[in-house]
Amino acid sequence: MSNRQDKPGAQEHLDPEALASPKVEPLRKPRKCPSCGKPSERKTYPFCSKRCADVDLNRWFTESYAIPAAEPGDGFEGQE
Ligand SMILES: [Zn+2]
Repeated sequence: MSNRQDKPGAQEHLDPEALASPKVEPLRKPRKCPSCGKPSERKTYPFCSKRCADVDLNRWFTESYAIPAAEPGDGFEGQE
């Protein structure tokens, strides 16, 4: 006598999360230095060197000086 409890049409328990498991991606994708195009170093990510980081930083400062700063409190986050 068979004592098994096989249910007809019984399916395995499928975990939807297991099915939709996301692909494992590296936290830091290989990225080129935005300043000179060389492979970025982890220490100075995303730049290849401290020097390039400073160059980019200087560029931002220069542009921020060139662009007239918008007056804050112009209804941007002021919901009344
Ligand atoms: Zn660089």
